[in-house]
Amino acid sequence: MIYLDNAATTPPLKEALLSLQETLFDYYANPSSLHKAGFRTAALREEVRQLAAGLIGVSPEEVIFNSGATEGNNTVLRGIGPLLKRGKKIVLTTIGHASVENTARALERQGAALLRLPLKKGGIINLERLDEFINPSCALLSITAVNNETGLIQPLHDLIKRARYLHPGILIHVDAVQSFWSPLWEKWPGLDWDFMTLSAHKIHSLKGTGLLILRKGRHLHPLLSGGKQEHSFRPGTENLPGIIALGLVLKLLRERRARFIEKIRLLEEAFIKGISTLEGYALNREKGLPYSPHILSLSHSFIPGAVLQNALSEMDICVSTGSACSDSNKKNLRVLSASGYGEKQALNTIRVSLSPLNTKEEIATIISALGHISQTIGALYRRVR
Ligand code: PLP
Repeated sequence: MIYLDNAATTPPLKEALLSLQETLFDYYANPSSLHKAGFRTAALREEVRQLAAGLIGVSPEEVIFNSGATEGNNTVLRGIGPLLKRGKKIVLTTIGHASVENTARALERQGAALLRLPLKKGGIINLERLDEFINPSCALLSITAVNNETGLIQPLHDLIKRARYLHPGILIHVDAVQSFWSPLWEKWPGLDWDFMTLSAHKIHSLKGTGLLILRKGRHLHPLLSGGKQEHSFRPGTENLPGIIALGLVLKLLRERRARFIEKIRLLEEAFIKGISTLEGYALNREKGLPYSPHILSLSHSFIPGAVLQNALSEMDICVSTGSACSDSNKKNLRVLSASGYGEKQALNTIRVSLSPLNTKEEIATIISALGHISQTIGALYRRVR
C-alpha cells in the first residue's frame, strides 16, 4: 500500500512509539492523584509540556493539552462568546478547515457577525484590502496558516503586523495544524499571535491529542466545566497515553526535522517533475506563492477527482479528493472555488500529501499510475464527451 494522504492523518513514527507500551504500564496513575504514582505521571506530562513549549517558542504555562485541533478551534471561536454577544465580529476566510468554518457558521446562526477576508487567486489573503475589514469592532482574526487542501502558506508576518496596526486589541488565532513542514514553523516565536491550535496525529503521533496555545494574559471561556486539570481550562482526566506518545514523537522530530524536510522537498520536486511529463494534469499552485512542500493539489482536465481517487485506490495508492473532513457531496468546492479555481477544476482535483516516510519509488509509482489512468479511463471519458 502506498499512503499519500498525510494531510488527513499520518502513520505513527515507529521508532518513537515502540517504547510507548512499556511507559504506559508504568505511568497509569491519574496525574491529579496526590500520591507518588500520581506525581510521577504528572511529572511526565509536564516534561512533554515543556518540550512542546520549547519547540513552539512559548512558555509551558501557555500550553494546554486537549483532544485535537477540532476541539482547539471550537474552544477559540466559542471561547470569545461574551465579546460576540457585545456585537464584536469574527474575521476569517472562506478557506479555513471545516472545524473553523462550521463553528463560525454555527456562531453566525446564533447571531454572531462574520467578516470574510477577500482572497486573491490561489487563496492568498489580499492584504491591500485589510483596512476595509479590520477595525475595533472585530474581536478575533482566525487564520488557517497552511491550507489543508492546497498547501498555500498565508503571509502571516505581514498579516499580523497590519492587523495589529489597524486594531491593536484584536485577538489572533492561527490554526497551525499543517504548518509543521513549512518554513512558518520556525517563525512562530517571532510572530505576535494569541491562540494556536495543533494536532498530534498530523505529525506522526496518535489521534485524540492536541495542543491549544493560549498566550499569557489572553482569556477564553472553556468549553467544558469540571475538575482542575489544565488550570481548570480543559477539565477531564488527561489523555496520558496520547500526551506521552506526543512527547516521544516530538523528541524524535526535534532531531530529524531538518533532514525530514529535505526528504519531503525531494519528494515534492520528483512529483512536480513527474506531473509535468503527463498529459491532462496540472498542479493547483500559483507562480510566486509559497506552498508547504507536503501538500500537492492536482487537477485533471476532465476526469473527476473521485474517479482518480478510486482508480488509484484500486491500485493500492491512497490519496484524497480534498479535506477528509469536508462534506463529501461538495468536496473541494468551498476551498478551491474560494481560491479562484473553477467548479470543473475543483471537481477534478485530488490531494496528494507527503510525509518523510514516503519514498522516491512511491512517487514514481503514483506518477506512472496517474499516466496510466489518464490514458485508459481518460480515453473512455474522451469518447463520451
Ligand atoms: N485544522 C486543519 C488545518 C486540519 O488540517 C485539521 C485536520 O484535518 C484540523 C484542523 C482538525 O484536526 P483534528 O483532526 O485534530 O481535529
